[in-house]
Amino acid sequence: MKVVFFNTKQYDEKYFSEAKLSGAHELVFLEAKLSFDTALLTQGAEAVCVFVNDIVDANIIARLSQQGVKLIALRCAGFNNVDLVAAKQYGVKVVRVPAYSPNAVAEYTVGLMLALNRKIHRAYCQVREGNFSLNGLMGFDMSGKTAGIIGTGKIGALVVRTLCAMGMNVFAYDPFVNQQCVKDGARYVDIETLFAESDVISLHCPLSAETHHIIDAEAIQKMKTGVMLINTSRGAVIDTAAVIASLKSGKIGMLGLDVYEQEEDLFFEDHSYEVITDDVFERLLTFPNTLITAHQGFFTSDAMRNIATTTLGNISQYETGSGKLDNEVTYS
Ligand code: NAD
Repeated sequence: MKVVFFNTKQYDEKYFSEAKLSGAHELVFLEAKLSFDTALLTQGAEAVCVFVNDIVDANIIARLSQQGVKLIALRCAGFNNVDLVAAKQYGVKVVRVPAYSPNAVAEYTVGLMLALNRKIHRAYCQVREGNFSLNGLMGFDMSGKTAGIIGTGKIGALVVRTLCAMGMNVFAYDPFVNQQCVKDGARYVDIETLFAESDVISLHCPLSAETHHIIDAEAIQKMKTGVMLINTSRGAVIDTAAVIASLKSGKIGMLGLDVYEQEEDLFFEDHSYEVITDDVFERLLTFPNTLITAHQGFFTSDAMRNIATTTLGNISQYETGSGKLDNEVTYS
């Protein structure tokens, strides 16, 4: 089957080409993001493969369908960027990679916490500049402090396990109790208690209508002064304007982000020779107590291999027409 890949980088091509050795699909790699215009580049393709920041709205799905596309294969876990109602309307199937490496994101999340707390990123720069002073680098012992984990699915559960092993008291909030988290030592509490008691809050729920801006001004008001907030989930679970106000007031003491509400205009590209016009993002960067990375939590060789093999497997399963697609996402 011919599959047109949008928004690709060299590393996508490398891992998908390696995984394809066992399959018969014709893969076309495009650097362009999927848009209403670039959707015309799918001539002869029955499937497209897109990434987290490709917006797959109703207009684009209509055009893809006109072009003969019948399958949208997401090479990521989240699917908030796809209009599933429109996909259903046009008879276009949507598949994803639900779990390519929860470890990759969980380990990265804990890495962000540790680096932010002990200011390792700042110390690295200071030492290279010949500044060996410890002023400004003081952190706190994480052992004995309380972490609040919002969303205890595959990634959140691994973060719970690691933080429990580090000696933290872990509170969890999720509509569904994950018994593994309880066994590992977490205690499920209501979200108000989690906000009020946690020294560190980490977000691992998907972006949905329900979780959009789950961290807003009202939620932040309920948190401890000086709380560390970590988001490796999706940018829009946090109201960035409210977070900036709380960094200014000192209510939020440390902020670690791997995702950002408007990241599709910035992330995954080199903008270092351009003027960045997103004033909200630029304001976030000015704080001494923020650590921001560009959606790299997933980025390990193991995860890339799993993404490639699962995505090609999803496409093969569709092609064989055997009925149910294991990794299909539908509107519910
Ligand atoms: P998952 O589906 O296994 O777990 C999500 C959990 O969130 C579930 O237990 C669900 O019940 C819970 N949840 C749903 N609504 C909630 C709410 N209102 N409040 C609290 N919990 C709620 O997903 P996962 O594999 O653990 O991934 C979590 C998220 O991480 C993904 O949706 C994606 O947005 C993000 N992610 C980020 C990266 C990265 O590179 N930074 C990579 C992969 C995934």
